[in-house]
Amino acid sequence: MNTLTKSILKISFATAMLGASFAFAAEEDCLPQQDFDLILSKIRVEQKDDNGQVVKTFDQQDRCDKDDFKRWAGAVNFLFKLPRFTDIPSRFQSPVSKEGSASFLTKRIQLMQMETLTMDSCAEGASAYVTKSEVSERKMHLCPIRKNAGTPLTLGSLLLHEARHIEGYSHVHCAKGPQSELSLPACDETYQEQGSYGIGAALFFYVYKGTKNEVLKQEARSMAITASLSTFNKPPLDIKEGALILGEDSKISFYDGQETFIGELEDDVSLILIDQTTPYA
Ligand SMILES: [Zn+2]
Repeated sequence: MNTLTKSILKISFATAMLGASFAFAAEEDCLPQQDFDLILSKIRVEQKDDNGQVVKTFDQQDRCDKDDFKRWAGAVNFLFKLPRFTDIPSRFQSPVSKEGSASFLTKRIQLMQMETLTMDSCAEGASAYVTKSEVSERKMHLCPIRKNAGTPLTLGSLLLHEARHIEGYSHVHCAKGPQSELSLPACDETYQEQGSYGIGAALFFYVYKGTKNEVLKQEARSMAITASLSTFNKPPLDIKEGALILGEDSKISFYDGQETFIGELEDDVSLILIDQTTPYA
């Protein structure tokens, strides 16, 4: 074999390898067939145009979609694939833990419509919404996702939040925090009533207490703290509002109008302990 033939062969081989790796990467971007089939068997997903007309129903050809459908379908898939954790402590149980995240969604929602930014609610900043007049259709509207906004966990929580609205749960004005400046009601009075924010937060607690995946657990923990502090007028699950004080004598106290001694800061371990047990051990 002469040198030229060898080079051509090498190039052909490299091209074949490149082709193969592209094909592999593309399949990796797709939702697994079985998962995708299950989603479409439970929820119809439609695309609307700028005039609000339905222009397409998502089907098998969209399994490898790269746009918003992929992100929303990924969030639905996250809820579908989340294991039924059976060891959730009673104080963290909720309709999400009792019904299961997938059933919670599909009992309330059977149609999702992807909107464009011309739809008023989307243009005003909503990520997803339901309307009272469409309750019987069990329909949810999904807005275009802002770049890099949301993970399967946070988008999944949002889906459950909106699904809860189908049952008539609404919001009240926030009594404190940056959201209190808004003219729209953007809080729930309590976590315990398990309204839309309560259900959204319940998913974070459920994942935080249930998953063995450390990365997901930490994300859920962080989101549980954020949701607990920003979306309820009364802090949930015995959370007390106040501040940690570190005195010059290395003693740590909690101050909420009165000072309660917590412990002594002897080394870094104390700090880690406090961090890891927030919001709940
Ligand atoms: Zn809401």
